[in-house]
Amino acid sequence: MQHQKPAATCRPLLPRHPRWDEFVERLAGPNACNFQTDRWTCFGDMRFTTRTLREMGLDEQSIDVSTAYFRDHGGYCDCEVIFNVDHPR
Ligand SMILES: [Zn+2]
Repeated sequence: MQHQKPAATCRPLLPRHPRWDEFVERLAGPNACNFQTDRWTCFGDMRFTTRTLREMGLDEQSIDVSTAYFRDHGGYCDCEVIFNVDHPR
């Protein structure tokens, strides 16, 4: 039996996705937006979002669908995805 890479996640990553929390944690983490008490990193685009989704194994089409959904819900850049798309708990 051959070892295989885990299959790419062939569906978009949206708030009800089982790995949504992991996505937000990565996006807010030190390798992306790096949220501190009163500041964070954001370039006004989706570079961290796209990279994080890619790292989580999404294919390009699922990434496109995910970022389109984020924009529809007020997430036009990385920090807005966290502020506007992630539901406050
Ligand atoms: Zn931002």
